[in-house]
Amino acid sequence: MKSAALILGTIAVGASSLATVGVDARTDRGGEMLPPIAFCFTPDAPPELVAQFNTDFYGGGGERFQVGSPWPNGGFQGVDLTYSFPPDGLFLPAQGSPDMSGPNVLNAALTAQFGDEATWKDLFRQVFDRWEEITGNTYTEVSDDGASWPNSSGNSNRGDIRIVMGGIDGGGAGILAYNFFPSNGDMKLDSAHNFSTGGTERYFRNLIAHEHGHGLGLAHSCPQNSTKLMEPSINASFDGPQIDDIRGAQVLYGDRFEPNTGVSGAPNINGLVVANQASFIEPLTLHNSGDTDTFAVTLEEGERLTIVARPLGGSYASAPQVGINCGTPEVDMAQEELDLRLELLTSGGSPGEEASENGIGLEETIMAAEPGPGSYRIRVTSEGGSGVVQLYELEILLENDGLLGELNGDGCIGSGDLSILIGSWGASGVLADLDDDGTVGSFDLAILLGNWGAGCGG
Ligand SMILES: [Zn+2]
Repeated sequence: MKSAALILGTIAVGASSLATVGVDARTDRGGEMLPPIAFCFTPDAPPELVAQFNTDFYGGGGERFQVGSPWPNGGFQGVDLTYSFPPDGLFLPAQGSPDMSGPNVLNAALTAQFGDEATWKDLFRQVFDRWEEITGNTYTEVSDDGASWPNSSGNSNRGDIRIVMGGIDGGGAGILAYNFFPSNGDMKLDSAHNFSTGGTERYFRNLIAHEHGHGLGLAHSCPQNSTKLMEPSINASFDGPQIDDIRGAQVLYGDRFEPNTGVSGAPNINGLVVANQASFIEPLTLHNSGDTDTFAVTLEEGERLTIVARPLGGSYASAPQVGINCGTPEVDMAQEELDLRLELLTSGGSPGEEASENGIGLEETIMAAEPGPGSYRIRVTSEGGSGVVQLYELEILLENDGLLGELNGDGCIGSGDLSILIGSWGASGVLADLDDDGTVGSFDLAILLGNWGAGCGG
């Protein structure tokens, strides 16, 4: 059984005819029923029509992000997916009214619209790169053998996600695209539209990102107020997945480091940190009260580590669908799902410093820890709250005092530094006054010579 999601514009057909598209009931992780097909809309789609579709196909489902089932092997961890562009001319059978059968025209059409193949393929790449950063999924473009469509995952001759273009509803203010839910994931764009119009690549990226959101297992999210990628109607007032979309995707796949529960095998974050300046690692998530996120960090002699675990998400309007309309928005306290607890442990997991005094929605800080050189573990857990997903970031400040006598910025104390010191002999208020006595002199020279060769490597 196929499952698909359609992007619609102002459609000329009644919801009843679209309801003939093959729909079978699915159960999401929380036990709510989601359909296999998600219809999406252009900005000028009449609200009552959008609402009717959502009621018909999503059962008037509940608040905030709406999740179905992830890809096999997903479920709080990323999955490795491939995508491909089948050859033009491949026959695309209609997936139900109003979809039309006909040949694939994607390659020639997008090249005509964007100027060359590299340009439009790069836009797809940008979309998948962003979903990689959010979920830990990987996306690899592969060739496509032209097998019958839709026909997807689990075959090395074509992508898990096969992206095509053909007629859907004849154009005008109509359907833009549709996308199958996991574990099919295929995407069809409507050939009646020019996707490079509007003067912005963002619109096309958001369309593709939205469609693949369905391909990840996300349904639409209400209200339609231009704050969420997965709102029923596409818009370009922001770029890519927003808070609600990120939370939804991370409910299904976790953040990009998952599963990082144990002290052994914890991902090392040194490569993400620049010494002596605040570095931010996000978007991270605890997907429920039992989740543990562990990171490795290596400290050198004299380095101090400040860690902040900061819940994100704020609060925003969220509405269930009632009848054919999005219901009255209520406030979703995204930042207050779980009360964060932060620890700095030895590499073996023995307790070190800990921060948990602040309440739910507030950050926790371990300030200027200096446990000595070695490998350590940063662990984030929760100690309260009952939410299913707490979005957060780590702010890391790794401080060191640098090398006394390092004057020319090459990180190594040598002749270049000596030249600078000699050149400023007798001067005051300069870096070469290493002992801060007000004048560059013999004591400063002694310090520099004492550190000769430091930082220069083996
Ligand atoms: Zn959609």
